[in-house]
Amino acid sequence: MALMTKEQYIESMRKLNIKVYMFGELIENPVDHPIIRPSLNSVAMTYELAHDPEYEDLMTATSNLTGEKVNRFCHLHQSAEDLVKKVKMQRLLGQKTASCFQRCVGMDAFNAVYSTTYEVDKKYGTNYHERFVEYMKLVQKNDWTVDGAMTDPKGDRSLSPSQQEDPDLYVRVVERRPDGIVVRGAKAHQTGSVNSHEHLVMPTIAMRPEDKDYAVCFAVPSDAEGLFMIYGRQSCDTRKLEEDADIDLGNKMFGGHEALVVFDDVFVPNERIFLNGETDFSGMLVERFAGYHRQSYGGCKVGVGDVLIGAAALAADMNGVARASHIKDKLIEMIHLNETLYSCGIACSSEGHPTLAGNYEIDMLLANVCKQNVTRFPYEIVRLAEDIAGGLMVTMPSEKDFKHPEIGPICEKYFRGSSKYPTEHRMRILRLIENMALGTAAVGYRTESLHGAGSPQAQRIMISRQGNLEHKKELARKIARIDEASIAEREAAASKK
Ligand code: SF4
Ligand code: FE
Repeated sequence: MALMTKEQYIESMRKLNIKVYMFGELIENPVDHPIIRPSLNSVAMTYELAHDPEYEDLMTATSNLTGEKVNRFCHLHQSAEDLVKKVKMQRLLGQKTASCFQRCVGMDAFNAVYSTTYEVDKKYGTNYHERFVEYMKLVQKNDWTVDGAMTDPKGDRSLSPSQQEDPDLYVRVVERRPDGIVVRGAKAHQTGSVNSHEHLVMPTIAMRPEDKDYAVCFAVPSDAEGLFMIYGRQSCDTRKLEEDADIDLGNKMFGGHEALVVFDDVFVPNERIFLNGETDFSGMLVERFAGYHRQSYGGCKVGVGDVLIGAAALAADMNGVARASHIKDKLIEMIHLNETLYSCGIACSSEGHPTLAGNYEIDMLLANVCKQNVTRFPYEIVRLAEDIAGGLMVTMPSEKDFKHPEIGPICEKYFRGSSKYPTEHRMRILRLIENMALGTAAVGYRTESLHGAGSPQAQRIMISRQGNLEHKKELARKIARIDEASIAEREAAASKK
């Protein structure tokens, strides 16, 4: 079963015994829970589109491990073209779901772990890469959704993992056995964890030798003994529990989610361990995963942006202001910002290069520039969408009021815009904008744009490292005809004083 259908995916999730808490209760059936289900539908779209001949080229690829056709979300990129297709696929899915479709964290983790384990083995003679290749064959064969889990709770940020007062604030090995390890700790903000078959856990920062027990990478099933999740609340989430509030949801079908994933002494067999104490490779793994995920944002956020721009344009039509020049200009600005993000996603992909393991990696500097722009532009795009939509997007009565026998006609009369459109259409579009700007999808489109794949400062550190300022200085010196020998002489003289 190399390519699951949407239905097979949903059934496969039903078979797992995932433990997830929400509102202080253990959820019996996460698959059909009204708050969780829209996020499952988003992941299901990654399966559905893989069967659509129109999108086959973007959604599927040929595995370098087996020669079989696989979902691109399970693929190890084999060329710069693969990297470009990845971004295009993410834009497509953003357009289809208007939310986070969650499966990218696994794809980005696969590619980072694949290349890093190869280099660990080269230095230490370990066999992590071989184990990981076997794991990837299973992932591809079963078409799994895997949650790439990186972010630890971190406690006091000024202290390293081993210096924390509570030693569990970074995931760590608490026991080493002949057949495997036992791990304890948690991963925070885990996108799509409840909808994933497996979790692929990586360290979250570069580490020193004393952090040995924390330099650990492994994979476990999402229903492994000792693993449980605590679901994150989203703004307006309980609207999903209300009756007759379909329109109020703005996006009834799709959504995303994050959860705290707790590892309460989870056993990991040897064949699922891909790093175990090699602290000097922790930083490499983090940078590579982050790099791929920063590329990803140049696709997914752009797709969601497309829907938001479309909704803003429709709101303008419905408000009767589509011909106003300042509205046209605002829509142009939104498109300009959105396409700039896309350009960055495509650029860091086109400039991709092979790793020592053979899979392709993005251009790190451009991927970080991409994500740095994502920390800003969606905010401006949302601001413009709210400007065009008008205040009604946050002051409109509920669907129940619109459907009420007495006040319904009054709502209908007073909330009508251009007579070309039914009031209900206007209501639907304004609620959709609300959903992306302030509601459940805003988690993915706004705050995640800031903090997902690393907060803005993380990209600035990488930009400063990759920016090659010395080379730029040399360029300027040459053009200004500054003799390098004279600088060396002055430096030598100064050091003698
Ligand atoms: Fe994919 Fe974007 Fe969600 Fe990350 S934020 S998992 S890249 S859709
Ligand atoms: Fe993300």
